[in-house]
Amino acid sequence: MKKILITGAAGFLGSHLSDRFVKEGYHVIGMDNLITGTMDNIDHLMPLEEFTFYHHDVSKFVHVPGELDYILHFASPASPIDYLKMPIQTLKVGSLGTHNLLGLAKAKSARMLIASTSEVYGDPLVNPQPEEYWGNVNPVGPRGVYDEAKRFQEAMTMAYHTYHGLETRIVRIFNTYGPRMRFIDGRALPAFFWQAMTNEDITVFGDGSQTRAFCYVDDLVEGIYRLLLSNYAMPVNIGNPDEISILQAAEEVVDLVDGTTSKIVFKGLPKDDPKVRRPDITKAKELLDWKPTVDRAEGLRRTYEYFKTKIKN
Ligand code: UDP
Repeated sequence: MKKILITGAAGFLGSHLSDRFVKEGYHVIGMDNLITGTMDNIDHLMPLEEFTFYHHDVSKFVHVPGELDYILHFASPASPIDYLKMPIQTLKVGSLGTHNLLGLAKAKSARMLIASTSEVYGDPLVNPQPEEYWGNVNPVGPRGVYDEAKRFQEAMTMAYHTYHGLETRIVRIFNTYGPRMRFIDGRALPAFFWQAMTNEDITVFGDGSQTRAFCYVDDLVEGIYRLLLSNYAMPVNIGNPDEISILQAAEEVVDLVDGTTSKIVFKGLPKDDPKVRRPDITKAKELLDWKPTVDRAEGLRRTYEYFKTKIKN
């Protein structure tokens, strides 16, 4: 049985990846320090023999007994309000955490995939963003703690690849949504659902003309699965190129939520908020034969069903 370590396993993406690898017949070791993740996301995995959980902060030395075939590094605060609240931890998990895990991968001869982000492109001056674009990032702005940690993470991972010959994979993840997002994590779609479902004002930042392209979580997991098993070490964008304005996203959520009386209101735009974002997925299509399959109407419906179960508790 292949063994895979997944950091951030109790988070949104980490828990879906844990499900997928258990389903594929792997032994999954989930690791999380639970500062933004929650055991609710993995309660169903805990009784399984194929799943082991370690409560651990990967910014500290990481020990895993026995053999290891793969490492997926998905631990990090990932919403702008989280990394504003935890700037140092965000920097540490992307840098020191990545270094620890690369060392572990080297010691175990494991293949390591890191969760990078469209944030490496910053406030991009080209749209859509191909992997060759170097980005437009403000290192000392509020988002710098996340963006620069992820850029360092990519550089460190490439160095282990070229210098130590480690097998590495880099996925650049664009905005992703779906069940197990936290209702109140500050990101646009959960915020809009929460507001619409509790009849509060829907807070669109700026004039809502900034764009994002939202990928349903199952599509993202499929792309990551294929990338891990591919033989391509350079970064690959995984995201859904269907780009919309944030105002349109807010309107779609309002239209979906039964009987809501919420109205859209406009608030100040956060500093360094990217004006556009959309993945160029040519590489993922060609190298991995991957493309998204869940359209936004369907993805938003599934996400709404999940949030309905959460609002009852
Ligand atoms: N946003 C918004 N209202 C909210 C939360 C976010 O208008 O209550 C905007 C935010 O300014 C950004 C976009 O929605 O332009 C996406 O924000 P999110 O936090 O989801 O992720 P980002 O793509 O900025 O990392």
